[in-house]
Amino acid sequence: MIYYSTNGKAPLATLQKAVVKGLAEDKGLYMPQSINPLPRSFFGSIQDLSFQEIAYQVADCFFGEDVEAEALRKIVYDTLSFDVPAVRVTDNIFSLELFHGPTLAFKDVGARFMARLLQYFIRDLKDSKDLKEVNVLVATSGDTGSAVANGFLGVEGIHVYVLYPKGKVSPIQECQFTTLGQNVTAVEVDGVFDDCQALVKSAFMDRELNERMQLTSANSINVARFLPQSFYYFYAYAQLKKLGLADNVVACVPSGNFGNICSALFGKRMGLPIKRFIAANNANDVFFHYLLTGIYTPRASVQTIANAMDVGDPSNFARIYDLYNSSHEAICADISGASYTDDQISGTMRECLKQTGYLLDPHGACGYRALQEGLREGEVGFFLETAHPAKFKQVVDDICGTDIEIPARLQAFMKGKKKSVPMGKDFGEFKSYLMSR
Ligand SMILES: *Cc1c(COP(=O)(O)O)cnc(C)c1O
Repeated sequence: MIYYSTNGKAPLATLQKAVVKGLAEDKGLYMPQSINPLPRSFFGSIQDLSFQEIAYQVADCFFGEDVEAEALRKIVYDTLSFDVPAVRVTDNIFSLELFHGPTLAFKDVGARFMARLLQYFIRDLKDSKDLKEVNVLVATSGDTGSAVANGFLGVEGIHVYVLYPKGKVSPIQECQFTTLGQNVTAVEVDGVFDDCQALVKSAFMDRELNERMQLTSANSINVARFLPQSFYYFYAYAQLKKLGLADNVVACVPSGNFGNICSALFGKRMGLPIKRFIAANNANDVFFHYLLTGIYTPRASVQTIANAMDVGDPSNFARIYDLYNSSHEAICADISGASYTDDQISGTMRECLKQTGYLLDPHGACGYRALQEGLREGEVGFFLETAHPAKFKQVVDDICGTDIEIPARLQAFMKGKKKSVPMGKDFGEFKSYLMSR
């Protein structure tokens, strides 16, 4: 498959180059030149297939030309070592629980897949003696760092640097990337998330550094991280079909950087019979405003209780815009939006718990509420429960009056010893640190 840049000014790339580089030379996002539809027969019997089998068929469409079948199958099966059940919350609303992976958030899927695909390509490059080690830089406000660090942990030929803002991530989140050791280095930046992101961006643009070491990004701009997210939309559909509820399916996605919903839209292009999509936002709702007005105006993000969605300029907007040939009308035909204040989010969490017994996290709550308000007669909806409520224990307990038990795999991280490299927000310091590695 050939990949082009959404900015249209970079050379075309192979999958290998798109994955190893992350971002195109013109700072655009890579897009596959074609999206292959899956055969009708696949959808006819999808309800009888396992999650891994469904995922492999989808992966084959995207990556089959570039990765040997046996290797791709192994990558998919290793990645999806956990279930993604669709749990019924009300008559017509299901929660697609994406928190059963190692770090209890949906980002495990993309991060684990990317780690394995990158390793596959590096082996290739190593044989041609082009390359030594690949260094993955990732800036995080919490969830991305833990998923990426755990996804890449122990993967040979790759070193991960997780840059995070000192004192600005929750203790549970912090221990998920500072206690790992091995090929994962936590860099504790004396600043805010934007400073971390700026350091990563400067590193990618620094010529001397890039001559010295192979750098790549593991943020959702990487095609190997965002495309695999389409797997679970197919599996959600399969689960609803098994229940005889697949005729008018609506998928609702709590959205921040819009990588997750973007992969759902790719699924639709491959023939996935989902009727329509809802992008649920917190107060950071530039996409919602775009839907209403046709004008996209990025703005600084504001802090909310659904903090993984605090994004003021979602990077994958460029992909959605490109996928729909810049047509506002076409985008609105497939996607609608919603936006909720912190008060509305916490009210929804309390009400849902009271009425159904189901405990939502603040991100999933946006999705649940958008379905509650937006489902029409005859439709069945599923929202993505993007993280386990225990990841936001303090917030959830305060709102719902609960005392959520922290799952054992999360507790295991908290027993480890924290190790991090202190770093100022000045690029010079970060550069000389990397150069000395
Ligand atoms: C990252 C994240 C989101 C937002 O996903 P995008 O792909 O950036 O739109 C939503 N919820 C949680 C819990 C997340 O970690």
